[in-house]
Amino acid sequence: MAGNAFIEGATAIVKGMSLTFATMFKKKTTVQWPEEREGVKPRYRGRHVLERYDNGLEKCIGCELCAGACPADCILVEAAENTDTNRVSPGERYAKRYEINMSRCIFCGLCEEACPTGAIVLKHDYELADYDIPHMIYTKEMMLVPDPHVVKEKLAAMERQAGSVR
Ligand code: SF4
Ligand code: SF4
Repeated sequence: MAGNAFIEGATAIVKGMSLTFATMFKKKTTVQWPEEREGVKPRYRGRHVLERYDNGLEKCIGCELCAGACPADCILVEAAENTDTNRVSPGERYAKRYEINMSRCIFCGLCEEACPTGAIVLKHDYELADYDIPHMIYTKEMMLVPDPHVVKEKLAAMERQAGSVR
């Protein structure tokens, strides 16, 4: 009886140690973040952005389908009418206010799937931790991609400035 227990114990120790030694000589997978960063899988769902069309108009039309689809109830959309003097999106309405409470988001991607215009997209940025919950309420201004026209104008101005310094 005692002999059997000894053999079982010794076998378990040998098994455990063989696993330990096998793991010791495997290639290390530790990544020295933040100095090193590894890419994520193509379908990874990270930080949300609000997209624009190439002409600079916002893709969001304020329809609130994303908010309705969100299982965590963390999206707030307030729509307003586009006018001839203030055209923000190609539709009748645009999102005057758009917020996501990222402290509640479970990154399921249902908002992206529900969106009829491809406006809300989950990208690959995963460095989202914060100590302060109010900082985790992402506003439209935080999520909206820059207007390509404004970016182009800024770059041209920088080039002009660099040219005048030379
Ligand atoms: S990813 Fe899911 S939980 Fe997060 S905002 Fe979109 S629908 Fe809501
Ligand atoms: S992000 Fe898409 S689904 Fe949400 S309000 Fe805007 S257009 Fe509608």
